[in-house]
Amino acid sequence: MEYQNSLDFAKQLDKEDSLANFRQKFHIPKDDNGNEWLYFTGNSLGLQPKITQQYIQQELDDWAKYGVEGHFMAKNPWMPYHEFLTEPMARIVGAKPIEVVVMNTLTTNLHLLMTSFYQPTKTKYKIVIESDAFPSDRYAVQSQLAIHGFDANEGLIEWKPREGEELLQIEDLEQILNDQGDEIALLLIGGVNYYTGQYLDLKKIAELAHAKQCFVGIDLAHGAGNIQPNLHESGVDFAAWCTYKYLNSGPGSLSGIFVHEKHAYNKELPRFAGWWNHNKETRFNMRQPFNVMPGAEGWQLSNPPILSMAAIRASLTIFDGVGMNALRKKSLLLTGYFEYLLQQIDSENIKIITPKNPEERGCQLSIQVKNADKKLHQKLTEKNVITDWREPDVIRCAPVPLYNSFEDVFNMVTILKTLI
Ligand SMILES: *Cc1c(COP(=O)(O)O)cnc(C)c1O
Repeated sequence: MEYQNSLDFAKQLDKEDSLANFRQKFHIPKDDNGNEWLYFTGNSLGLQPKITQQYIQQELDDWAKYGVEGHFMAKNPWMPYHEFLTEPMARIVGAKPIEVVVMNTLTTNLHLLMTSFYQPTKTKYKIVIESDAFPSDRYAVQSQLAIHGFDANEGLIEWKPREGEELLQIEDLEQILNDQGDEIALLLIGGVNYYTGQYLDLKKIAELAHAKQCFVGIDLAHGAGNIQPNLHESGVDFAAWCTYKYLNSGPGSLSGIFVHEKHAYNKELPRFAGWWNHNKETRFNMRQPFNVMPGAEGWQLSNPPILSMAAIRASLTIFDGVGMNALRKKSLLLTGYFEYLLQQIDSENIKIITPKNPEERGCQLSIQVKNADKKLHQKLTEKNVITDWREPDVIRCAPVPLYNSFEDVFNMVTILKTLI
């Protein structure tokens, strides 16, 4: 597509956009004068779908009406409530239903999954992460090393960008695995890096790691609802993601997990147990010995928070109404336009650190502004442009195809230009 640097052109793209009407399904925050914010932080907290309130209200009403009987009598019975989320969630990440469940929160799930897939021996115990991993993932991995009796620093291998570069190269991971594969037990990698927005080749990572008998886990916090990770096909052993970023399910909402089908019936994997991963058929007999369920459901522990799941259900309804193919198609166009407009800014101080290749990124662009400091971010905020600032000099911006318009992108870049 030949883009043009004009408001008319942006408006024309919105007119031709078959997903443009999804914007009005969301609450767009406004300033005190009623002007809509230019919201570019759907990668941090997605906006609220208007139907969410009604979905949560339904469960409040049924709780008021039925009390405990709501587990069976509610319009959407709470007993199997998590099952309503499984298939739509599996469609979003490209998985089979048996491979997916929604439960707990993200970091908790990383630990539960590492309990099963981090099985260190005296000689094969190291864990690989990307050097700019999200802090929670780094802490999680370090604490796993520590509770298994290893030195948290010595046991941690960082896959780093090359000197003077920001992005990771798969050849460098290959090198790490060639050199130290015999000592590595697990790779825990952010599928889309939170800082640079780089989308890594999950299938390639899985192939390289499995060739050295290492397990692979993927943190998809910045991937779910953004890119199409095709988790089943990728062959990774497990993955986890949150639902409050691109999946628009509310602050602190639950996490999704994926455990590849090849592990679905392996009852030997070490794991924690609770009544919710015990066989559904006999769960309420209460006096049965533990009998773990097959598939991802076999990692649950507790009966889940229905109100939060209601918000996820509302959001997944919207995703099912669009489909990830159409969403990704718009996303490529929208982020492409954003990139084009940023490139039109005549300044040597501005550099996009996110990969240029659209196949290696989602919707987020991370913009490095040389000589800038947090004041730039404050000025953007004062002008209703909501972005995310990462020290020392990076603005992360995510035009989200469900609710951001081409006009949003045009207006955002126009304001940024005046501030640089
Ligand atoms: C957002 C995010 C988290 C947050 O973890 P919570 O357990 O949901 O607080 C963790 N890891 C990554 C990569 C993230 O992007």
